[in-house]
This record gives sequence, C-alpha cells and structure tokens, in this order.
Amino acid sequence: MRAVTLLFHDVYLTDPSESGFRSSAADRYKLSLAAFDAQLGALAAVREDAPLLVSDLVDRGRGRDRRDSTQRSQRSGDRKEAALASLRSLRLAPRRPSPALRSGPREAHPFIITFDDGGVSYYTLAADRLERRGWRGHCFVSTDFIGTPGFLDAAQIRELDARGHVIGSHSASHPTRFSACAFERMVEEWSRSRRVLEDLLGRAVQVASVPGGYFSAAVARAAAEAGITSLFTSEPITTISQQSACALIGRYTIRRGDASDLARRFVVPSSWARSTAWTAWNAKGLIKPLLGPSYIHLADWLCWLRRNAEGAEVGLPRRSAEGAKAGRSS
Ligand SMILES: [Zn+2]
Repeated sequence: MRAVTLLFHDVYLTDPSESGFRSSAADRYKLSLAAFDAQLGALAAVREDAPLLVSDLVDRGRGRDRRDSTQRSQRSGDRKEAALASLRSLRLAPRRPSPALRSGPREAHPFIITFDDGGVSYYTLAADRLERRGWRGHCFVSTDFIGTPGFLDAAQIRELDARGHVIGSHSASHPTRFSACAFERMVEEWSRSRRVLEDLLGRAVQVASVPGGYFSAAVARAAAEAGITSLFTSEPITTISQQSACALIGRYTIRRGDASDLARRFVVPSSWARSTAWTAWNAKGLIKPLLGPSYIHLADWLCWLRRNAEGAEVGLPRRSAEGAKAGRSS
C-alpha cells in the first residue's frame, strides 16, 4: 500500500502568529491564506478523487469492502460511525483518475492531507476550504496547548471531529527533539495526549504524528506501547510500513515559499518533486549531525536548490538563526 501524504501546518490571514507556535522556526511552515488556496486549487486540478482518511487506509490494507464496513457500523447501532462511513464512501468516488492523471505514465497513488500542531487556523480557515471540495483532513494536536492563544479549543476539536475530520495526537507538550527523549517520556507523551483527546471526543484515538519530524525506532515502539496504531512521520516516502504494531506513514512537507503548486507536483504519478524531497531529506540526515548550528544555512541553501529545481520563482536563500527544528517539519 502506498499513499502520498501532504503535511501542512498553520494558515494565516495577515500574520503567522495568528495560529500555532510563535517562533521564527515555526513560521517557516506557515502558509498565507492565498498560498494555501493556491496549493489546494492546484491539487484539485489534477485530482477528482478525495483524499483518503487513515481509516480508509486500514480498510484498504485489510482488503475490506467499504460497503461491508458501512453495514457493520449500522449493525452496531453506532449511527454516527455509519453516517461517516457512508460519507467517506461518497467522498472517495469516483476512484478513476482525472484526465490529467490518465495522461501520465502511471496511475497516481491515493493522497492524504494532514496538518500538524493543532493551530486554530485548522478550524478558522483550513477545514472549510477542504470541505468545500468535499474533502476532509487529519488534524494532529499537541494537547498541552488546547485552548491556549493560537490553538484549537475543546469545542472546536469536537466540532471538527463531528464534521468528519480525523483528530490525532501530536504528542502532549511537543518536545523540541522528540527522539532524544527517554523512552518512558515518549510513552508518557503519547499516552497523556491520547487520554486528553479520548476524554474530549468520547472515543478511541489511535492515530498520531511525530512532532518535529524527529522519528526513531524507539519513537514508534513508544507510540505502539501507548496504543497508537497509525503514526505519521515526516520522511518523504509513499510506502506504508509496519513497525511495533504501528503503521508508519511518510509525508511530504509544504513550507512557506515553496512553489505555489507543490502539492500538485507531489501527487502526480512519477513525481520529480517527490524524488527531490527524498534526496534532500536523506542528505540532511547525513549532514545535519556534522554541522550542528551551521546546518541551518545549508538547509536554506537546499530549499533554494529544491525550489529552483521545481521551477519556482524565488529569491536568494534566506539567512536565518532559527533553531534545531530547521529543515524538519514541526
Ligand atoms: Zn509540530
């Protein structure tokens, strides 16, 4: 099973500080509303199919018939789940690729839309725009920040869940370098975050994304120990693998200043943008530990190269003193 999963963060009207974490490092991942609309428009131009939800992935992986899923839900008397399952069936049709995709050399992979951090803009700006297209997304929440300025509150999270969006964990406190935490701390972060969301929504929450993109085998083991069954990383790959009872799903990050149609470039068949992202990710993994703080300048340079390779109109690489999260999604 493969899927192209897109990773967004916050969207803002006039100032990046409106939503999510307030730092220059976090701002690197926030899109203006115009930039976000451009990404969605470009995406919709090549995809008639709606983005998958993680529950669809599980169903597909098990080879289950979607109609059976709906019938099971109805038999269980869970009217809300049955309604959502029906809605998902409708949203996923038609399965056939758009004319733009049919002209490509290979069929496109299904795509998935995710947002990290739990910034309030998922409720105020992003969700409506997805829904206008009949789409739903995944919203990963760092639960210690629920209800604080710039972040979703409990009522908004409940409403998004009721509207069919998938609410998942993005840890509790969003540690700066998650993979460097002690194993017990990781388990506690996942467990506490799950508990908060489950208390809030009244049902199981078993999907999560790794904060900062700092993934390791221990991160997956800790997630599995905390009951998480689907874990989104920031590694730009389409293959969905299994580790420690967790499905690992890579993602393609869209950052401030990226080409305005990068989402489209990521989801088309035989995507050069995906190959470039994978190469850049692996180069960073090799070089970052050697360069330490100097790495940020190289990261900017790599971004500049990537945008040029993609044909985007960009200026010179921006020098920055941003911190350890640079080059990885937050
Ligand atoms: Zn984050």
